[in-house]
Amino acid sequence: MTSSSVPLQGVSELIKLKGVGPSLAQKLERLGLFVVRDLLLHLPSRYEDRTRYWPLANLTPGTAALCHGEIVEARIGYGQRRSLIITTFDGTGYAQLRFFHFSRRQQQELVTGVKMRWFGEPRFSGQAIEIVHPEYRVFTGDPPPPDASLAPVYPTTDGLGQNRMRALAQQALAVGWDGYELPGLPSMRAAITKLHQPPPTTPLTELDAAVRRLAMDELLAHHVLLKERQVIRQRQKTQALPQAQGLGRTLLAQLGFELTNAQKRCLREIFTDLDRELPMMRLVQGDVGSGKTILAAFAAIRAAEHGAQTALMAPTEILAEQHYLNFSDWLAPLGIEVTLLTGTLSAPVKRNRLERIRNGEVAIVIGTHALFQRQVEFHELALAVIDEQHRFGVHQRMSLRHKGRLPHQLIMTATPIPRTLTMALYADLDISVIDELPKNRQPINTRLLPDTRRQEVLDWLAPRLAKDDQVYWVCNLIDPSEDKKLHCVTELLDLLAHAFPEVPMAMLHGRLPASDKQASMAAFKAGELRLLVATTVIEVGVDVPNASVMVIENSERLGLAQLHQLRGRVGRGHKRSYCVLLHTEQPGALATARLQALRDSQDGFVIAERDLELRGPGDVLGTRQTGDQQFRVADLARDSELLEQITHMGDELLAADPNSATALLETWATPDWGYGGV
Ligand code: ADP
Ligand code: MG
Repeated sequence: MTSSSVPLQGVSELIKLKGVGPSLAQKLERLGLFVVRDLLLHLPSRYEDRTRYWPLANLTPGTAALCHGEIVEARIGYGQRRSLIITTFDGTGYAQLRFFHFSRRQQQELVTGVKMRWFGEPRFSGQAIEIVHPEYRVFTGDPPPPDASLAPVYPTTDGLGQNRMRALAQQALAVGWDGYELPGLPSMRAAITKLHQPPPTTPLTELDAAVRRLAMDELLAHHVLLKERQVIRQRQKTQALPQAQGLGRTLLAQLGFELTNAQKRCLREIFTDLDRELPMMRLVQGDVGSGKTILAAFAAIRAAEHGAQTALMAPTEILAEQHYLNFSDWLAPLGIEVTLLTGTLSAPVKRNRLERIRNGEVAIVIGTHALFQRQVEFHELALAVIDEQHRFGVHQRMSLRHKGRLPHQLIMTATPIPRTLTMALYADLDISVIDELPKNRQPINTRLLPDTRRQEVLDWLAPRLAKDDQVYWVCNLIDPSEDKKLHCVTELLDLLAHAFPEVPMAMLHGRLPASDKQASMAAFKAGELRLLVATTVIEVGVDVPNASVMVIENSERLGLAQLHQLRGRVGRGHKRSYCVLLHTEQPGALATARLQALRDSQDGFVIAERDLELRGPGDVLGTRQTGDQQFRVADLARDSELLEQITHMGDELLAADPNSATALLETWATPDWGYGGV
C-alpha cells in the first residue's frame, strides 16, 4: 500500500521531501495532502503570467503584471491610513507602489536609486497607476530573467505561501507520477506536468484539456468504486423481512389518505428488496412533499414484525424530532415502540433509552448523525434509513454493520438531480423515484419582488396573520453583515415585531440551543406561534401543513435547489399558499433567470435541469452548502457531459480488465471515499 494515497493514520510521507518538517507536514495534511501523489493532484486554481516584463506605460488596471523599475521617490503618505509610497520609473512610464503594512527595514531598503522587480495588479489612484502590496524583490544590474513558465497559484491554507507550494509541486514533479496509467488514453504524467509547469505560451484550452484528462480518470475511478461496492454488497446476506403480521395494512387503513400511485410503486420495490436476504440498498428520490417518510414507516413495520429494529438518521435535530412525532403517531397504535436519541437528552434519560435499545424493547430509533457515531448498541438492527441523504455528502454510504451483517438500507433524498448525475453518483444503488405529489397539494403562488417593496409584503400579510395563517420568513444570516447589504434574522425579528406587535413570533437559527429550537418548532407546529423568522435551518423536511406563506430574503444568494426546498415548506395543506422571493434591486441576469425558473415551475426535476443548464450541479446537489469536497479534480458542472461516456468506459474496464480498474481506483481513492467499505 505504500503507493496509495491512503496513508497510515497521521503519517505524512511528505516529511521525506526537502524542507518539510512536522509543522509544514501538518499544514499539508490540512489540505488533504499526505503523499507525493496528493501533491501532484493538488492542481493550481489559476495561473499568473510572470513570463515577461510589462513596460510601465502599458499597464492595464485589473490585469496583474510583472514589471521592473528604478525608485525615483520614496515617501510616507498620510491619507486615511499611513502608507509607504514608492514611485518607480522604467524608461517608458511611472508606477506607484503602496504599502500599508511595512517594516522599518523595508523603509530603509526601498530608497531612491534602488532597482526592483515586482508582480501585482495595477489600479488607478487619481492620475497615477498604483499597485498595492505587490510581491517584489530588489536587484542590482540587469533585471533577473522572467519566469520560464506560467506561475501556478495553488489553493492553500494559513501560513503556507505560494512560493512554498510551488517549490513543493516542483519537488513532487521530480519524484514523478506513480499512479496508474490507463492504456489507450493520453498520458497522465504529461497532463500533470503541464498543469504544474505550463510553458509560457500554453493556450488555456490546452490546460483545460489536461484538467479534463485528470477528471476523466478520477470519475472513472469513482465509478469503479461504486461498482465494486455493489459487487461486495451483493455477496452479503442479511435477514429477510417478508410480511409477517399485516401491520402495514392496519397502518394503511388508519392513515387518513390514499398513497399515490408513485408511492405504491416505490413501496412495492422496497418490499421486493426486503423479501430477500440480499441487503437492500435503495435510494428513494422524490420531490419535496412527495411523501417519502411514510414509505420508511412501512419498511420499519416489516422489521418490527420480525422483532428486529430500525434506525432512522436525519440531518438535523428538528427533523429527527418531527420524524419521531410522526412515527409515534403512526406506529404506537400498532404497539410498535419508537424512541428519539438526540444530543440534548439528559444523561439518565439517554442511559435509559440506550438500555431499552440494547435489550430490544424499542423497535425504532430516530436520531441525527450521532446515532451511529456514538456506537449505539442495537439488539437486532435490520434496517437503516437515511433521510435527506444529500446532506451527508455523496461519497458517504453508511458503513454500518450489525453483528457482522449489513442491515437493509433505505436512503431518501429530496434533491432531484438530473439523470446523468444520478448515474455518476449513485451507480451502486437501486433507485426508486416518487414522481407524483399527493392530490391535495396546492400550487404555490410564487412572486419575485425587490426588497425595497418589503412594506407591500407586510401590508399584504397583516390581515392574513390576523386570521390563523402561519408564515415562514427566511434569511441567510444570523448577525448583521458587514456591508449591510444582507438582512439578518435578528434585524428582521425586530422589524416584524414592530410591524405586527400582536402576532406571536420567534426566531430559529443554528446557534440557538437545541432545546430552544425544539420548543419554537413545536409551538409553531401547534399553531401557537404564527410567524417564524428563520435561517435556512428549516430548509429540510420540516412539515407544518397549516403554514401557507414563505418569504425569502436575499433569494438571489441562495441555490435553486435550496430555494425549492424552502418553498416546499408551504403548500402542504388545504390552503392556498404563497412564496415571496425578495431580492436586491439589481440581482443580475443569471440570478434573475434562476429566480424566474423557480417562479415558473414547481417540479423539482425541471428546476434541477434548468439549474444545471444555468450554473452547474454543485448547488443542484446541495453539496456546496455542506462544503463537501467531492472530487479532487473533477467538477460535475464542468464535466457533466463526460459522465455518460465514463459510465460505459468504467463498465467496460471492469469487465475486460478488473486489475486495471482496481489500480485506477487505488490511484484516486482518498480516505473520504470510504474505499474498502460497502
Ligand atoms: P417528503 O417527501 O418531503 O419527506 P413528507 O414525507 O414529509 O414529504 O410528507 C409530506 C406530508 O404529506 C406529510 O404531512 C405526510 O403525512 C403527507 N402525505 C404523505 N403521503 C401522502 C398522500 N399520499 N396523500 C396525502 N398526504 C400525504
Ligand atoms: Mg422528508
